[in-house]
Amino acid sequence: MLASLFQRIDSKTDELVALACELIRFPTVNPPGDHYLPCVEHLGRRLAGRGFAVEYLRAEGTPGDTDRYPRWNVVARRDGAKPGPCVHFNSHIDVVETGANWTVDPFAGIVRDGRVYGRGACDMKGGLAASVIAVEAFLEEFPDFRGAIEISGTADEESGGFGGVAWLAERGYFSPPRVDHVIIPEPLNKDRICLGHRGVWWGEIETKGRIAHGSMPFLGDCAVRHMGALIHAFENELFPELDKRRSTHPIVPDGAKRSTMNFNAIHGGQSDDWTGLPAPNVPDSCRMVVDRRFIPEESLAGVKAEIAGILDRLKRSRPDFDYEVTDIMAFEPTLTSRDAPVVVAVAEGIRALFDREPDYILSPGTYDQKHIARIGKLYDCIAYGPGILDLAHQPDEWVGIADMVDSAKVMALALHRLLFKKSLS
Ligand SMILES: [Zn+2]
Repeated sequence: MLASLFQRIDSKTDELVALACELIRFPTVNPPGDHYLPCVEHLGRRLAGRGFAVEYLRAEGTPGDTDRYPRWNVVARRDGAKPGPCVHFNSHIDVVETGANWTVDPFAGIVRDGRVYGRGACDMKGGLAASVIAVEAFLEEFPDFRGAIEISGTADEESGGFGGVAWLAERGYFSPPRVDHVIIPEPLNKDRICLGHRGVWWGEIETKGRIAHGSMPFLGDCAVRHMGALIHAFENELFPELDKRRSTHPIVPDGAKRSTMNFNAIHGGQSDDWTGLPAPNVPDSCRMVVDRRFIPEESLAGVKAEIAGILDRLKRSRPDFDYEVTDIMAFEPTLTSRDAPVVVAVAEGIRALFDREPDYILSPGTYDQKHIARIGKLYDCIAYGPGILDLAHQPDEWVGIADMVDSAKVMALALHRLLFKKSLS
């Protein structure tokens, strides 16, 4: 039966490649969140043709949702002959902007040398196509399955998932008893199981000053110099501390086992979109966006307290130093247990196909798993899918055809294990 399922998936290779290409040809670039509706309709029509009940859901009023750029999602469900657990495959349909240096058309869906090229090929339309083919092969092989299978294509993962998985989770789409197990086919490589991700705190720190004539800065108070003092304190006090912290969890790549912080953007004084001559002013405000990623051994409260401590010390020691901190986005680390049913099922699939143990990893950045755990209270969730993580968001992004086929086999095996509660031999 195992051989028959594998053969069936092999025979669908051309179909899998065609579907990945079709999905890439919808330029679902986010921001702004373009072409979501035709993309989810394409997926929905295909699944409706295979007996799925299909719902199209617009996350009205979520960030970025307008009549020009509506946040459309699709959730498709097929119930089996008898009641049982539900396995859900969730993929985001949005992709990031193309950026420069492409040598192929990013939205043509080009097949070359055993690879599919295009924006979103790896992150994550290749994974979405692989999960659809896995499910279709499974349904042909086991038409009298018990339980239910769901496939969703969701919006806005690249911008936080608020118009996608978070919105659906708030409406019960990612909670038991509707759903029991979730696989997110993000590009984490076909022999690795991603148990979760580091935490994130994105914040804006503003230092404040007082405007005055630039020829007499002593009559004002320069917010940019205050920001300089803060960066100096971060360099000397915070970064060396972060470098020392090493997680015992298998976070990839290795550099992300440490706690990290990035300065995403900084701006002080006059707007730099002005092309004329500037006026001489002492800046009264300087704003910096920081992106602090933390390991499971740390907590969000601890991360924020550490930064507040440095700011408060500067306020005491530096004349006229004043600041304001605004949260932009914050999530605790998310971590699924290694003995959770979905982990055991996918691990078994990897063993059966590759004759080796899977690698268990954690992602350096977050993805939609956070909403499924935090809002849906569903903890049996992992990321598993084809593609090389490092290629995500790069020019000439691609996904290997053989990798898509292999991961479809692993997904189909995991599906069998979770629905029939026994291994396929
Ligand atoms: Zn992704």
